[in-house]
Parts: sequence; C-alpha cells; structure tokens
Amino acid sequence: MLEHYGPQLYTLAINVLRLSIWLAILVVIFVPLEYLFAAHPKKIFRKNALTDLGYYFMSSLIPAALLSVPISFVALAVHRYMPAGFLATMETLPLWARIVLGLLANDIGYYWGHRLSHEIPFLWRFHSIHHSAEEIDFLVNTRAHPLDMVFGRFCALVPLYVLGLGGPVDARGTLVPVIVTLIGTFWGFFIHANLKWRLGWFEWIISTPAFHHWHHTKSGPINHNYSSTLPWIDRLFGTHHLPNSLPTDYGIKAKVPDSLIDQMIYPIFPEPAVPAPKADPSPDLPPPLS
Ligand SMILES: [Zn+2]
Ligand SMILES: [Zn+2]
Repeated sequence: MLEHYGPQLYTLAINVLRLSIWLAILVVIFVPLEYLFAAHPKKIFRKNALTDLGYYFMSSLIPAALLSVPISFVALAVHRYMPAGFLATMETLPLWARIVLGLLANDIGYYWGHRLSHEIPFLWRFHSIHHSAEEIDFLVNTRAHPLDMVFGRFCALVPLYVLGLGGPVDARGTLVPVIVTLIGTFWGFFIHANLKWRLGWFEWIISTPAFHHWHHTKSGPINHNYSSTLPWIDRLFGTHHLPNSLPTDYGIKAKVPDSLIDQMIYPIFPEPAVPAPKADPSPDLPPPLS
C-alpha cells in the first residue's frame, strides 16, 4: 500500500519542504519590516494567522497543470484569428521585453478578473473570503478560496499566452509566465504587508501597501484598486482611489467563519439571512444562492 503511494508522498514532502523554505524567507523579510514600520499596531500571531498559513500551503500545492489545459485551449482558439506573423514577431523579442510585456498583460488580465469577482455576485461569494481579513499583513495575500485563486490566475495568465509570451507556442516554454508569476506573487505579499511606507511619485507607477489596503477598507466602498502591481491600470479604467491616509479598519460586514474548512463551504452555502445586492451591488455582502 505504502510503496504504491511512495512517489506521490515523496513529491508532496519535497513540495512542502520547498514551500516551508519560501515561507521562512517571507517571514525573515516581512516580520521585521512590519515590526519596525507598522501601519497599525498588531500582534505577530494575530487572529486567523493559522488559517492563513493553511491557505498558504493549500493554494501553493494546487497543481499549475490544472490551469494549463483551459489556458492553452483559449490561447489556441484566439491564435486562429490573429494576423499571420504576429506570434513569430513576439518570439523574436528579447527576454526583457517579453517579461515587461508579460507583466503588463498579466496585470490587465488580473484587473478584469478581480473586478468581475467583485461585480458578479456568484464570484464575490468566493472572493469575499479574501476580504474577510480584519487585520492585514503579508500573510493575508494567501487567504483565497481555491476557486477564487484559480479564477484570478486564469484571468491573469490568459492574455500572456494569447500574446504568445508563454507555451505551448513558445519554444522557450513557460519561462516568462513563471518569472511574471513569481514577481506578481512576491508583490502580492508586499502590498498586503502592514507597512506605513509611502513612495511619493513612484506610487503612480507601482502598487504599494497603501494602494491595496484601501481595497480592504471596511468603512468605505472597496470597488477600486483592483490591479496587483500597476496602479495606473485602475486610473485608466476609473477605479483608482488613494488618499494620503491609510484605512483605519478592514474586512467586510458579512460574518465569515474563522476555520479553513468552514470557509471552503461558506461560498457554496451562504447565510440565507444575508440579502442579495440590489441595483448598486455592494461587494460587502455575499448574496444567497438562487
Ligand atoms: Zn478584491
Ligand atoms: Zn488583498
């Protein structure tokens, strides 16, 4: 029995070890910074930290291969209608240009996927788990229902593959998507960090904790600041919001359960007492199933 599952258990153990090393690196970077430059006073082991640790391992272990089939399908379908020579031209670009274009395409795709997750009630049920955090630090980046995570990553990667910046049309394989995803993931941890840093004019170009913290405020609307790394995409589509101050409270009005297991089920069976958004959908309340 055990020898039958041996290779899978070995792969799982290696992946858990790899993720533990990355976690240790993130802790070494962000815990001292959040202690020295805290935006809000906070304990290191805050409420739901263990749940978020569970998300960290669970989300990271979802195989990337799950996404490769639907992404390739969409990309190949679009490529049939693209001008001849376009993909060949993209392949001739130097690596740095392909990475820059990849970051841009990735964040525009993420912007629209994220925006839809707020505007379509069914998607909001899943995305509301991420917004349920009432204290924000770098680890909140990992708090996402697996379906929300898969949908966001799908939307982010599709434009990149459609433009021929990744496999299967790219002989160099998945180098650009991997680099872009690594940069995006690290930046995701940074923009959630409990840091009071402001970067002046640089905030026009690159997202900061203040930019994303306003996306998590409990006191005002959160239908702004959807992009992950490039805030001017929000300016372009009219959803940018960045006051000089930081939000004073975080979370949503709906009561989301604390445990990871209950949060997995919550979007499928939302509380019947929570009303559905009316004409002006408020992303604060997940609607009931209908
Ligand atoms: Zn959101
Ligand atoms: Zn967030």
